[in-house]
Amino acid sequence: MSITSTVQRGVALLLCSALTLPSFAAEKKTAEPAKPSYELPQPQRETLDLNMYQSIRQEGLAHSHVMEYASGLADGIGARLTGSPNLKRANEWTRDQLTAMGCVNAHLEDWGEFGMGWQQLNTWVRMTSPDMAVLIAQAAPWSPATNGPVTAQATVAEIKEAKDVDQYRGKLGGKVVFLGAPWEVKLVDKPLSKTLDESDLKKLEEYPLKPPSEEWRKDFTKRMELREKISKLIADEKPVAIVVPSREMRDMGATGGTFIDDSGADLNSFAYQHEHMNPVPIAVMAIENYARVYRLVKARVPVTLEMNIDTKFLGDHEHGFDTIAEIPGTDPKLKDEVVMVGGHLDSWASATGATDNGAGTVVALEVMRILNALGVKPRRTIRVGLWTGEEQGEFGSYGYVKQHFGYVPLSTAPDQIKLPEWLRKPAGPVVLKPDQQKISGYFNVDNGGGRIRGVFLEHNAAIAPIFEQWIAPLKDLGVSTLTLRHTGGTDHEAFDSVGIPGFQFIQDPLDYGSRTHHTNMDTYERLQPEDLAQAATVEAIFVYNAAMRDQMLPRKPLPHPEREEQSTSPLKNVMPGAEAEEKDVKEKLEKEEQQKQPQTPPAQEPQAPKEPAAPQSQPPQQSTPQQ
Ligand SMILES: [Zn+2]
Repeated sequence: MSITSTVQRGVALLLCSALTLPSFAAEKKTAEPAKPSYELPQPQRETLDLNMYQSIRQEGLAHSHVMEYASGLADGIGARLTGSPNLKRANEWTRDQLTAMGCVNAHLEDWGEFGMGWQQLNTWVRMTSPDMAVLIAQAAPWSPATNGPVTAQATVAEIKEAKDVDQYRGKLGGKVVFLGAPWEVKLVDKPLSKTLDESDLKKLEEYPLKPPSEEWRKDFTKRMELREKISKLIADEKPVAIVVPSREMRDMGATGGTFIDDSGADLNSFAYQHEHMNPVPIAVMAIENYARVYRLVKARVPVTLEMNIDTKFLGDHEHGFDTIAEIPGTDPKLKDEVVMVGGHLDSWASATGATDNGAGTVVALEVMRILNALGVKPRRTIRVGLWTGEEQGEFGSYGYVKQHFGYVPLSTAPDQIKLPEWLRKPAGPVVLKPDQQKISGYFNVDNGGGRIRGVFLEHNAAIAPIFEQWIAPLKDLGVSTLTLRHTGGTDHEAFDSVGIPGFQFIQDPLDYGSRTHHTNMDTYERLQPEDLAQAATVEAIFVYNAAMRDQMLPRKPLPHPEREEQSTSPLKNVMPGAEAEEKDVKEKLEKEEQQKQPQTPPAQEPQAPKEPAAPQSQPPQQSTPQQ
């Protein structure tokens, strides 16, 4: 976003306001309901309270308590898988911390039924022959337990398609199945940690004119169905357990004892639902350990393993909860309006989820602490939301948004109805609740523990000149970049889906994509105190500005998925001399026929299915070049 375009836009807005204000005043006389302030022309200049900028910087940078929250959450509570007792503790702990720092109305909100509660109690694997060796592994999420400690031979099954199972019939029973060939481990010859340099930020600023491919959606469904089919075929053979190798990460990050332990380690992405339960105990193993066993088995050396996957299932129908708390607004006219800030509280199970998304959680806590410590009396209410079920499909944020602001009905077409909700096409029209007009915006941190470098504007061009002014005094903290691009896989999407300005910040990637994202190494050590203090300071300033300005933040036009097909289908009758297509002629005749008929009642509204969501782990973060 260049400065020139900002100034031009500012002038345009000024002209616009000069022209439209009198007519608005005239409208008022006829007792029309007042428009929400986000629909009014925005002021050319933001009124920034630079004294408050300084106070927030002082409190956030010099008196930071963000690492105390981080240790409380990551060390004191630990892993926070949705449906687990630890997550319940984290919900209660964050609620109590928010109350203790001075927030009001701190409470938990039920977003709905999730699935099975599950805990990993212990997992160990060792080789006893041909050599004694401790192997690094943990249970895949929602893995059933082995029958206590078990001893079994290892075998390898390389199954890419369902028919590949045939060659292993009668060979897997009573064995530990190492599923698939390991990937090639190469030298770690690049730094695992990355910060965004000038050229990375420049690239982010450029708006991609070609829409991203949606092919991965199709592939994902196919892969998912195949995996579930394979898991059932293997289960029929009655092996003792399945071991999978960790997936790869950027620049050989998933080596040296680091492994990814998320739904990708399960044989089904919906392993938390009873009907999709893992049929066999599954562990994910560090690549070097996995590859050693694989090489031995392939060389026809008998390998004996001892292992114990010790896990516990809780209820089948656990509910998920969000932690919510507020600093109440004080302006009589604006206090019913809300500005929201948040991140997700849940994590995976093999580490303490410090960067994903302990970081976003403790930054949001620290934002609220800073504002409370300064005794801020915001004009609008500032509300924090700490979501759960994010890792399985942004359930907590979509559930909250549905209960308070609105939702997008999903397609019920036959090919769509069998898909998981986050894969289904939105059908629209968007269903809104009155409070959708009372929320100015939502700010989210969930791209690891790196400092904030700017904001993804989610195609909201009207907001660029506003944020441009907000970040000008933050250049020395490294905040410089606004991009109109979309970024996926974080909870701001729930707000954006119903037309509420929702933003994920651009963050330095550090070792998120190479070391910590969904791994057994996502611990407190991966957090950088200065980066988190910076993130809390910057986010507190954004939240403060949004709560204090005269108007709510400008919005994009409301999404209309129901018009999507019509607006993207090719224009008709463009090619001179082309004969009309048979179906168009038919359509035209039908239309004429209909017009002759008496008025028919409007078409039935589409059924209202549950909230849509996109998973954290599956879609490519196409807008973030470093991912
Ligand atoms: Zn996350």
